Amino acid sequence: MRLLAGWATDVGQVRPGNEDSLLIDEDLGVFAVADGMGGHRGGEVASSTAIEAVRVSLARGQSIDAAIRDANNAIRERALGDPEVQGMGTTFTAVVPLDDANVLIGHVGDSRAYMVREGRLRQLTIDHSLVADLVREGRITAEQAEIHPQRSIITRALGIEPDIDVDVYTVAVHDNDRIIICSDGLTDMVSERDLESIASATTDPETVSRTLVDAANDAGGNDNITVVVLDVTDVGEVASFIDHASDVGLDGTVQSIDEPIDAAPTASPTRVRIVWWKWLVRTLVAVVPIIVIVGIAYVVVDRRANNTWYVTDLGGEVVVMRGVPGGLWWYEPDVDTRTGLKVGTLDEGTRARVQRGFCERSSLAAALECVDDLIDDRRPVEP
Ligand code: MG
Repeated sequence: MRLLAGWATDVGQVRPGNEDSLLIDEDLGVFAVADGMGGHRGGEVASSTAIEAVRVSLARGQSIDAAIRDANNAIRERALGDPEVQGMGTTFTAVVPLDDANVLIGHVGDSRAYMVREGRLRQLTIDHSLVADLVREGRITAEQAEIHPQRSIITRALGIEPDIDVDVYTVAVHDNDRIIICSDGLTDMVSERDLESIASATTDPETVSRTLVDAANDAGGNDNITVVVLDVTDVGEVASFIDHASDVGLDGTVQSIDEPIDAAPTASPTRVRIVWWKWLVRTLVAVVPIIVIVGIAYVVVDRRANNTWYVTDLGGEVVVMRGVPGGLWWYEPDVDTRTGLKVGTLDEGTRARVQRGFCERSSLAAALECVDDLIDDRRPVEP
């Protein structure tokens, strides 16, 4: 699976600064939006602190939910002793690939992740906001929530409490799916119907991001606007990402959307599961047997060539050679012992055999015994 990312962020038409932050790290495999809040520079500091903390935690091999909890701690530590940013907080919505056909969404607050599939828009995350609670309780309608005066009040954010519940969703993805992560500066300004229409365009993720931000600005741009668009391709192909398998189930919320995988894998210390690793295994499987065969052949040839002696004729003299008659690979036979025995003193049949090289033995002593037989008895010897 591959995720092709485009993004856009804008201060909007009203706010003095942009307190949204975003994270696009294709090498690490993480895409996120954080919408900061707090006086002075608090919002900007909270969202950027969260982004950096999550990036660092994921790079260390943490799961996405653990990384978001780390971000919660990082914001609280950053706020300690700094009155200007005390009480700051941020939403956080991140998408990380889980395997070759699923992504994980880690989510806190009222930024959102959407899925666009075959022209249909669907919200993947649940808002942690007052109005979302009221809608779930049936006290107001979704239409009333869109214009509710307290719709910006959120019930969960990073940096507020020491403990944070992180929602984690497993989402099965298909080729041509488009995932959108955005801050409420988009969704407060642009209706889901318009969002669906713009996001279904077959343009590239960068253009879609920019068009969505422009639409929010055209509608008034009351808040900072941040959009990340991820186009899903190559589903089923090995993901060249770090594995961000969730360890939720311990203290987070797991919700599965659309053909969930059976269970989220548990966290493990070695999370790097990258294409080069498979390539290395395949290469080793191919190369190791060859190395072993060549190694065994070398040892066999070496032992045979260095532990063989034979008797032959060298310039009319019977000599004992070390090696194999005619040589073996790169081993040429060498003269080991000159006997002083003249070949001419041997009978014709024995002479012919000596000239060919005979009496191959695995020790010098055994080869010399053949020579002794020639000298003493002048009788034929066993080849
Ligand atoms: Mg906002």
